[in-house]
Amino acid sequence: MKTSVFDINQNSRIESKIVVALERISEVFRVLLWQESRINKLSPIQTQILIFLLFHSNEKCNISYLAKEFNMTKATISDSVKLLLDKNLIIKEYNTIDSRGFSISLTNSGKKIAQQSSSFAGIIEKPITNFTDNQKETLLVSLLELINKLNQEGIITVQRMCLTCKFYNKNKTTHHCNLLNKPLLNNELRVDCPEHRIAS
Ligand code: SF4
Repeated sequence: MKTSVFDINQNSRIESKIVVALERISEVFRVLLWQESRINKLSPIQTQILIFLLFHSNEKCNISYLAKEFNMTKATISDSVKLLLDKNLIIKEYNTIDSRGFSISLTNSGKKIAQQSSSFAGIIEKPITNFTDNQKETLLVSLLELINKLNQEGIITVQRMCLTCKFYNKNKTTHHCNLLNKPLLNNELRVDCPEHRIAS
């Protein structure tokens, strides 16, 4: 039988403990998102779509992009979008060049719910504020490197962070953004950057 990170008799390896710790945190996200969604009589993915629309540019707000973003099929995203349209929380905006293509944007009531719901994970941020600057930077850089590796292996799809950006350069331990034309400190590395362009 293969070894498991969840086997409490075998998880003396630090890598296993880190994976189990991440799993516990992902469970907190799941529960908080579910609680927030229940308040608004929405499903978790519907809440995630509203929050995504609130913070991302129009060219990313379409069925194909949302399917990749949330690792779901286009059919599943289309069903959620239809329900959000029925609830008058979003509207379709048709592409002037191709009438079959459309993007989605929030209505006023959708925006209100998205703004309220977008703070659902704030409770996780609170204890991190007590970490030292060094601890925060080490944690951020380690998580970005982990996400980057998982992205390279095709396990995590869409990424808009510095490490996967064509404008990013690393010289030994120094990070640099060629678009902003300036070095980036560890705490300036972006996880979700509006200017991100995928590196070839
Ligand atoms: S454009 Fe954004 S994601 Fe790309 S390197 Fe600069 S700050 Fe990072």
